[in-house]
Amino acid sequence: MNDQNSIQITDYYDAETFKRIKAFADTQETPCLVVDTATIANQYDELVENFPYANVYYAVKANPAPQVLSLLRDRGSNFDIASIYELDKVMALDVSPDRISYGNTIKKSKDIRAFYDRGVRLFATDSEADLRNIAKAAPGSKVYVRILTEGTQTADWPLSRKFGCHTDMAMDLLILARDLGLVPYGVSFHVGSQQREIGAWDAALGNVKVIFDRLKEEDGIVLQMINMGGGFPANYVSRTNDLKTYAEEIERFIREDFGDDFPEIIIEPGRSLIANAGVLVSEVVLISRKSRHGLHRWVFTDVGKFSGLIETLDESIKFPVYTEKTGECEDVVIAGPTCDSADIMYEHYKYGLPLNLAMGDRMYWFTTGAYTTTYSAVCFNGFPPLQDYYV
Ligand SMILES: *Cc1c(COP(=O)(O)O)cnc(C)c1O
Repeated sequence: MNDQNSIQITDYYDAETFKRIKAFADTQETPCLVVDTATIANQYDELVENFPYANVYYAVKANPAPQVLSLLRDRGSNFDIASIYELDKVMALDVSPDRISYGNTIKKSKDIRAFYDRGVRLFATDSEADLRNIAKAAPGSKVYVRILTEGTQTADWPLSRKFGCHTDMAMDLLILARDLGLVPYGVSFHVGSQQREIGAWDAALGNVKVIFDRLKEEDGIVLQMINMGGGFPANYVSRTNDLKTYAEEIERFIREDFGDDFPEIIIEPGRSLIANAGVLVSEVVLISRKSRHGLHRWVFTDVGKFSGLIETLDESIKFPVYTEKTGECEDVVIAGPTCDSADIMYEHYKYGLPLNLAMGDRMYWFTTGAYTTTYSAVCFNGFPPLQDYYV
């Protein structure tokens, strides 16, 4: 037992912002996600301030709500898109195709063609088969090759193993790209989402440098662009350095490898732009123990793994959970409302919630603006998808 609920609102939101979000949520049924768009605007401005030399390509998968997309469009963001469905969403908002990158390395030939027909000329790849498809379906386009990265241990939500190829293969692909009439444009990587080890960018940039140098010296290919992906932090229970520290370190890494003459630099933030803007509000459905002397209470709430909290898989992302109840706390297991025993959010990592927390009380899941609404199931057990509001 410990005596305090360690989650403080002001560690995550300024007091006014939280008040505004809560006032809106008070008028709504749970569960619902309330996203404060002013926070997204601030996060975007802060990012641009910290990475003044970079072009931002927002990773649309983090939250594709039109309110989010149009806000970022108006601030000058570009868009990293993974499917024709995301492409439709973004282009419906009059974003011009020269602000779009098709960043998914896994794609159908006919989808490459659809992007090309709509004017997109920037494509990611990491395999020969995909590259040949691009050459056919999107002739003359710019391609960048994604390389594998280390750092899966220190990223809370790794993205590194499934995508990318070895540096030797990346060079082969860039040479082949030229031979197929494409523009060998650059190299990309993603160090893993919510990457807590800033050195992961150093290692990846070192590999990029090798590719830039060798292709120039041995093949006369001058690459122009580095896409540093996402991985920048949001505020969860496991703390990270602040964005400024990431930016200063990463700029130093680039300068060490490339001198003062930077190539074009792209960053693709998702989580770091959006997550901090959201609060997911749920209600306690049931509190129980599993035996007479059961040590832990189980707190069942009306949001779960299937209604937006899938990133609690393996307890990877530890969302701060706040309640208005105060006083003595006890470690609990937190689980969702469905008839699936996988629907347990936190069991090993113990959240201390107040002993006087009661059925019907609301729980506030902080930092839930990214990777929640779209991960929500459409109808499991009849539960509707997560409702979201933008204020
Ligand atoms: C998901 C994804 C991102 C966003 O990563 P975050 O860690 O959420 O910022 C960026 N680039 C690519 C290619 C992605 O797949």
